[in-house]
Amino acid sequence: MKIGIVGCGMVGSASAFALVMRGVGREIVLVDLNRIRAEAEANDIYHAVPFAHPLTVRAGDYPDLAGARVVVIAAGAAQRPGEPRLQLLQRNAAVFAQVVPAILTHAPDAVLVVVSNPVDILTHMAAHFAAALGVPPARVLGSGTMLDTARFRALLGRHFGVDAQHVHAYVIGEHGDSEVLTWSQAAIAGLPLDEFSRVAGTGLTPEEKCQLDGNVRGAAYQIIAGKGATYYGIGSAVARLLDVLLHDQRAILTVSCRIAGVARLEGLTLSLPHLVGGRGAMTAIPLRLDAGEQQALDRSAGVLRAAIQELSLEPA
Ligand code: ADP
Repeated sequence: MKIGIVGCGMVGSASAFALVMRGVGREIVLVDLNRIRAEAEANDIYHAVPFAHPLTVRAGDYPDLAGARVVVIAAGAAQRPGEPRLQLLQRNAAVFAQVVPAILTHAPDAVLVVVSNPVDILTHMAAHFAAALGVPPARVLGSGTMLDTARFRALLGRHFGVDAQHVHAYVIGEHGDSEVLTWSQAAIAGLPLDEFSRVAGTGLTPEEKCQLDGNVRGAAYQIIAGKGATYYGIGSAVARLLDVLLHDQRAILTVSCRIAGVARLEGLTLSLPHLVGGRGAMTAIPLRLDAGEQQALDRSAGVLRAAIQELSLEPA
């Protein structure tokens, strides 16, 4: 099973590394404007294969993506000092206008996974360019709030002393400042957190809750301040998503996707829990939110609606 990764900076190459460590796929092709970087990353990662899983990792060009089941897009222009967000978006729109058709020309059946930021807007753009080639929006996914959801679960797991895989909690909306932590739906062992607190004898005070919320929301800022970029977490999220896509695992993941059939969010691209199978997003699952969370989600949707309108990127 072939996987393509277009853009192998820190995020693209960390994704390839996570795929090798997890043993997802058989062959990874790295494509980058900077071919020397792609060759170097491919070699470095391939040398981990004897310690991990039997995959091939090589650098290539778009024709080498032929037959790829999934192609990850982690390419993008970096923000120049002082550059306005819209200008950066316009430069990335130009990158996506070139990259998306180039991928689909050679891998017309691939599921596209967008990781570049701002991920919701770029996923919306990718779906726009892909639609012109007959690809349905459900086959274009963004990593969305998968990582924020993982952070939420990890921090709740640490607080309660429970394996994070047994904590159910979702972050939805924009992958960014307006994202929504759905506290009202968080559960451990099927119990809402306040009930689980009573059973487990581990309280969660309003102050602790507020601090944990801030730590999830501010994680990227804190990591970037300390080491310049975040990539291991997102690389692991990509590997998990690709495992689900390649094996039609029907997992519930907070990917970003063009929303259809959910009131107030129609046509926007943002994260909700989605049932994900081998061909992409199958169903968006609207959560039962409390009034404050619904208001926060409306606000987040408003932020994305405004950004999409600024770009005049209506569905193709
Ligand atoms: P990140 O930390 O998000 O990975 P980087 O700036 O390290 O960001 O990586 C972005 C990568 O995308 C770079 O290696 C760059 O060469 C690549 N890239 C930018 N534009 C294109 C493009 N049009 N096609 C392929 N790769 C691209």
